[in-house]
Amino acid sequence: MGTADLHIHSVHSDGTATVDAILYHASVNTDLDVIAIADHDTLEGALEAQKLADRFRVEVVPGMEISTTEGHLLALYLETPVNAGMSYIDTAEQVRLFGGLPFAAHPTALLFASIGRRKLENIVERYPGLLAGIEAENGSALHVRYNEAAQRLRWRSGLPGIGNSDAHVLNTIGSAYTVFPGKTASDLRTALETGSIVPMPAQRSDRFFRRHVKHFALRFGISVVESLDVRRGEELRVRWRRVRRG
Ligand SMILES: [Zn+2]
Ligand SMILES: [Zn+2]
Repeated sequence: MGTADLHIHSVHSDGTATVDAILYHASVNTDLDVIAIADHDTLEGALEAQKLADRFRVEVVPGMEISTTEGHLLALYLETPVNAGMSYIDTAEQVRLFGGLPFAAHPTALLFASIGRRKLENIVERYPGLLAGIEAENGSALHVRYNEAAQRLRWRSGLPGIGNSDAHVLNTIGSAYTVFPGKTASDLRTALETGSIVPMPAQRSDRFFRRHVKHFALRFGISVVESLDVRRGEELRVRWRRVRRG
């Protein structure tokens, strides 16, 4: 059996670690076999990871977390970028067209730009086979009840469920993960397509909520500043990265 964490953010979007540091950390400090860098609305981090992957133990799957008009969509095995700002259905169709696998990222999770239950169920009913699955365990979801709701959605829809950390800092990589038969990125793709996967929940310490609320508030604050003044936002981002590393 292999393990995979298919939703990790790097400095190419709002993560705090470089791609190099993520690959090193995952290879040396975790048991993960496969990871995906899935940054917000850019494939840059994923493509960099693919280039560097030979030097590390973990295998890499290219991914991207796309902002649709109805919430985040996680695209895996995607090698051509898909534009943000389209509907959920158009985005998923484009991902399929480019040979990728579209997953509903953290459905129903509050404050995360997530698709809601009704909309998702409606898409699954009207477009069978469009979505490859549901992120049933998200290690960064602010409350376990969002993962419980996502699990219920995957059972009701019959779609495969994956588990991911949605890590923005190194030490949460692999907190939630997906178990699959095999070890390689190609074994994983087969497992995802046949639904032979199990999403594993994150073990949460007492400090989880406090720490995540702090991270979330910082990220949200920075993005507000950035929307008003791009340069000031970037300065804050660099400063926060330094704080996180220290
Ligand atoms: Zn997201
Ligand atoms: Zn994310």
